[in-house]
Formats: sequence, structure tokens, C-alpha cells
Amino acid sequence: MTNPRELLARLNPTTIRYDVGRGGVGALSNQDIAAALAFVPAGLGREVLEACWWPDGAARRSHKLRDAVYMHVQPEIARQAKELSEARIHRGMLHACAGWANNPGAGLLRELAAAEAKVEAIKARCWPVSAFEMLPAMSKAVIDELAHPNQCPDCKGRGQLRAGELVVTCPTCGGRGTLAISDRKRAAAIGRDKATYRVVWRPMYEWMIREFGDAEQEAARHLSAALRDAA
Ligand SMILES: [Zn+2]
Repeated sequence: MTNPRELLARLNPTTIRYDVGRGGVGALSNQDIAAALAFVPAGLGREVLEACWWPDGAARRSHKLRDAVYMHVQPEIARQAKELSEARIHRGMLHACAGWANNPGAGLLRELAAAEAKVEAIKARCWPVSAFEMLPAMSKAVIDELAHPNQCPDCKGRGQLRAGELVVTCPTCGGRGTLAISDRKRAAAIGRDKATYRVVWRPMYEWMIREFGDAEQEAARHLSAALRDAA
């Protein structure tokens, strides 16, 4: 099966056409490909899939991508706020307990220290309050990265290597075929310096690239199935 992403890319007028006249999926017309897209469930995955591989089409419906991103991100921001608030309440309760007794005891003080550490750890994981403002730049950077992955130089993106008679998982990329892009490049892509990126934006970027990537893969599977039916 031809990669459904390559078929989708054929819809861009700037793309050179290929695969014509070989039968099977190669015989699919652009209308067939566009029609198959209708079978991909609406949502983040479909919007990211289009933004990555059919940017000409996606540009006409960028508000749909925006809505899908906000819908996807909102529960995560709410989850983080809840987690942090609960940890702070727990810490506050322990503070109050410690203040209640004249001698709080080693056990309670240990619990209090652990609660303090937990609040700090959650704060470090949480996205900054300006996360919503960063969403457009962050979404664009993540989509660019998904559309232009950093191909593993050792296996050339195949994820596997030949070792004599055996085919083994590529140790450099762990079988993914791609390598993570450096913090420096990700920072530049969202217009921040590397130090700020690492402290403030990295958890959000890494969450988004994981979520967008998974959603895109799922959508590509749906498109692939629809194209198989159409061929
Ligand atoms: Zn590799």
C-alpha cells in the first residue's frame, strides 16, 4: 500500500504527479483521494493530517485546525490546574496540622516536605499561564516538525538495519525511523531561546508533538482504509 500521506500530497497543485497508470492505488484519481478524506473522522487527527500533507487544502480551513487544537488542549490545561490545586490544598492542610500541634513530630514534617516537593514538581510540569497565547506558534512548529521529520541517518528512516543475515531494529532511533529534533531547533521554531524553551515550554511542546503525532497516525490509518476500499 502506498503511503496515504503521499497520495494526499498529490492534491497540492505544486506536487509532481507520479504513480499514474500502474493500476491499484496508483489509478486513484484526485477526486477519489479527496472523497476518501471524508471517511476520516473529524477532529484533531484529520486536521493535522491535512495540514501536514495537503497544506493547500488545509489553508482553506485553518479555523477547523484551530478549533480542533483548542478542543484537544483544553481538557489537558484543566487537568493540570486540578492536579496543582489539589496538591496545594493537601500541602495547606498539612501546614495547618503542623501549626495545630506544639510539636508536629518527624512524621508530619516529612509528609509536609513531600507535599512541598510534589507541588514544585507539578508546577515544573505544568504549562505556563500564557499557554493559550502560544498555541498558534506551537501548533505551526509541531506540524512543521511532523511534516518534515528528522530522518534517522543510520537506517534512512526504515527503522531497521541489516546485520549479516538478520534484520534488526535500528539502535540509533529505536525502530522509529526518525530522531527527535534538538531543543535549540524547537526553541527557534517557536521564537524562544533555548534556555527559556527548556524551563518553560518543553513540557508543552513534547505533549503536543506526541498528541498531534498520535492523532495524525490514527487519521492516516483511516485514510489508508478508505483508499483501499476505493481502489
Ligand atoms: Zn534508525
